[in-house]
Amino acid sequence: MNAPTIIWFRRDLRLSDQAAVAAAAAAHGPVIPVYILDDETPKHRRMGGASRWWLHRSLEVLEATLRDKGSRLILRRGRAAEVLAEIVKSTGATQVHGLHHHEPWWRNAERALERILAEDAELILHHGNYLLPPGTVKTGSGGPYKIYTPFWKAMRQHMPPAVGEASPDRLEPPEIWPESDSLADWKLLPTKPDWATEFADHWQPGTAGAEKNLEAFVDKAEQYDDGRNLPSEPLVSRLSPHLHFGEISPATIWHRIANVTDRAETFLKELVWRDYAQNVIIQFPQYGSESYSEKLRILPWRDMADAKVQQDFKAWCQGKTGYPVVDAGMRELWATGWMHNRVRMIAASFLIKHLLIDWREGEKWFWDTLVDADFGSNSVNWQWSAGSGVDANMFVRIMAPLTQSEKFKAGDYIRQWVPELGDLDDPYVHDPEEHGCRPASYPTKIIAHKEGRARALGAYAQVK
Ligand SMILES: Cc1cc2nc3c(=O)[nH]c(=O)nc-3n(C[C@H](O)[C@H](O)[C@H](O)COP(=O)(O)OP(=O)(O)OC[C@H]3O[C@@H](n4cnc5c(N)ncnc54)[C@H](O)[C@@H]3O)c2cc1C
Repeated sequence: MNAPTIIWFRRDLRLSDQAAVAAAAAAHGPVIPVYILDDETPKHRRMGGASRWWLHRSLEVLEATLRDKGSRLILRRGRAAEVLAEIVKSTGATQVHGLHHHEPWWRNAERALERILAEDAELILHHGNYLLPPGTVKTGSGGPYKIYTPFWKAMRQHMPPAVGEASPDRLEPPEIWPESDSLADWKLLPTKPDWATEFADHWQPGTAGAEKNLEAFVDKAEQYDDGRNLPSEPLVSRLSPHLHFGEISPATIWHRIANVTDRAETFLKELVWRDYAQNVIIQFPQYGSESYSEKLRILPWRDMADAKVQQDFKAWCQGKTGYPVVDAGMRELWATGWMHNRVRMIAASFLIKHLLIDWREGEKWFWDTLVDADFGSNSVNWQWSAGSGVDANMFVRIMAPLTQSEKFKAGDYIRQWVPELGDLDDPYVHDPEEHGCRPASYPTKIIAHKEGRARALGAYAQVK
């Protein structure tokens, strides 16, 4: 019998167009699929609460799918490189197949694993979680792109992406399975309180759920161009957590959408932002914790040790700022683990500019509460919003939340997520305080727009 081959699953929890799975199946020997819950390697970047909820559900689905193929999913907990090396030793495996991941901690872990495995087994990493292997599109002078638009144009030349093999029919089991943890013992689902009770009403983690969202989006793709900015309309794909956990490949999405409409360009462009974010974190591994712009590194943010600042931050997190569109977004986030992109931009801008709170505080909150929390996409978008990034909005461009709310017709969205305002019609619902119809149960604005704007510009004037 051939020596076993290990599949090392991380954020690539699918069997189709998954090069590591295809390679292991093609090895014509027993296959041992493994997922390791590693809270040590990423240190403070361990998975947040909402992501852990998603992971639990997604692993259940993957395990069931593998069983249908005559296989299983071995679960282990600990430092991934060490745990894998131990499994290699105990099973006599000679190859470990996985997909590349570009978060700095994973790149370190991959190097460590190669060192530990040494002569015993080979670590073979494949591409496939992005449209192109990050780092492959280069500028005319051979360097990586820093700015999104030229990056997109260069990427476009290489599209459509290649799609890998369909899911294998069967994966040969080993004679003896290594020991596995029980998923329930990992306690990924929240208890006391179970703040994720509503998540299951909004999401179906796993490949079937991803395909469902993709098919539902096919009919809407024509309207994406205009509709993607309207939080009251269900015109975006809601594929982000499925993409983050790798339950569907971006190449599959590209082909499905590019083939149904010739108005797909805007959507495909958004999909490329995901690749762009990887391109940025490969160049700047500190992107999640340090402003790219030196000016923004020394901006006099308000001090988080100050009780009033803490109170403002809490109001933002809880959706009690008195700005309906911001509050609707933050409450949608808490209830569902997701927020509409237009509202993410408004809520992020409000925290950074109106409240003058360091973008890294907001990034951390999103990291913990988003089901699609992604090191690349989250840090790139927060730095974009702050005006601190390599390709960013200017700090002095301050979004007016109330104007944004009206412009992007957020009335129904607010009525859905802020029940205190459920009876208010447009235009009152966008700014009940200004219209003199604020219900007593809804908070007053924690800061006036003009005052927040002036304070932000004042802080920026000190560093420009
Ligand atoms: C402050 C802030 C933080 C964000 N944090 C994250 C995050 O942690 N994880 C994350 O996946 N997205 C993040 N985004 C980007 C974006 O909001 C989400 O990808 C999008 O809302 C997901 O919904 P959707 O799947 O319906 O997107 P669609 O509009 O249907 O887009 C399709 C796919 O394209 C990708 N995409 C779209 N816009 C962006 C973008 N601006 N940046 C990167 N990828 C994009 C996503 O994978 C998305 O699923 C953030 C945006 C902001 C402003």
